[in-house]
Amino acid sequence: MADTYYEILKKRGFTRDEFLKGCTTLALMLGLDYSFAPKIAKALETQPRMPVIYLNLQECTCCLESFIRSAHPMMEDLLFNMISLEYQETLSVAAGDAVEQARRDVIRDYPGQYLVIVEGSIPVADGGIYTTIGGHSAEDILLETARDAIAVIAFGSCATNTCVQGAYPNPTDARRVREIVRNVPVIDVPGCPPIAEVITGTIVHILTFGTIPELTNLGRPKAFYNHRIHDTCQRRAFFDAGMFVEKFDDYGHKHGWCLYKVGCKGPTTYNACGVIQWNNGVSWPVQSGHPCMGCSEDNWYNDHTPFYERYQRFPGATVPRDPDRVGMAVTGATVVGVAAHGVATAVKKGKEKKKSEFHNNPENKA
Ligand code: SF4
Ligand code: SF4
Repeated sequence: MADTYYEILKKRGFTRDEFLKGCTTLALMLGLDYSFAPKIAKALETQPRMPVIYLNLQECTCCLESFIRSAHPMMEDLLFNMISLEYQETLSVAAGDAVEQARRDVIRDYPGQYLVIVEGSIPVADGGIYTTIGGHSAEDILLETARDAIAVIAFGSCATNTCVQGAYPNPTDARRVREIVRNVPVIDVPGCPPIAEVITGTIVHILTFGTIPELTNLGRPKAFYNHRIHDTCQRRAFFDAGMFVEKFDDYGHKHGWCLYKVGCKGPTTYNACGVIQWNNGVSWPVQSGHPCMGCSEDNWYNDHTPFYERYQRFPGATVPRDPDRVGMAVTGATVVGVAAHGVATAVKKGKEKKKSEFHNNPENKA
């Protein structure tokens, strides 16, 4: 019988303490109380490895790059040793007919027991000729592979919202995974790329509870996609104070002010980038000085351009072309952030005069 996750961890030198700590981390990542840690531990101690087929369709492989870079050592082990990754074009040793046969063997031998991860959109124009593997179109491969899966994880923005391939005029007629797969649950894990820990957490949830995680109304795991980038951003205090970067490399940019005016889409983007971050929590785009592009949102590649201009559409408000005037109009209403910005911008001249006086004072130089 196949080793359980815990047995493999033991063989790899993890102590029981490290294992239990890892289970607690996973519980918290999944948005659960730490008291769920024993349940996760039990599942990892008793469940055999789950076969996983990872398909690369119309994409650039950046999601896989993220997938293999989980920072937590136990989670990295989970990805590479705990799941049984039966098919992955880039990582598989086998190639050609042999690896395609391995995929079909999983479908035949583990009906209803394997998980499918899909990276990339599905081009359906011209009979699907824009992505074929072994002479078969991406659509045919996906339909064949998903047929008897427990669930399909659409991993990354290409798979969940078609990303750059879907940009107008969408020449390959790129489709989302959930537009093609209808007979099994589809879990959307958007991001360009998504954070590795998000997919680890999603897989662990399926293993632990035998069900797919609770999803948002857009079909994304709630534990990771229930909050806006804006809600957990370390620059948020500057947004509320009306202190904005006006152009890259200015004083505000160098001092961590809000990036809204140089195109940040954080107020309308739901993702966990600011909480989990990349590379063991070292940083994430907004912390590093780049505005959030809103890559996890539907149709972002068309809707969010030009990327480096301020965004005028906020949920729950009909925003005309001049956000400054909107801010004035909705002061005190529900879109508090926009209102704060509008008011701040309306009094911009006076404020900037004060800032300029402040910055020009030699005693205040950084
Ligand atoms: S607009 Fe962007 S940079 Fe500013 S607080 Fe929101 S998420 Fe952070
Ligand atoms: S910060 Fe924004 S653009 Fe960057 S990965 Fe996260 S959601 Fe996507």
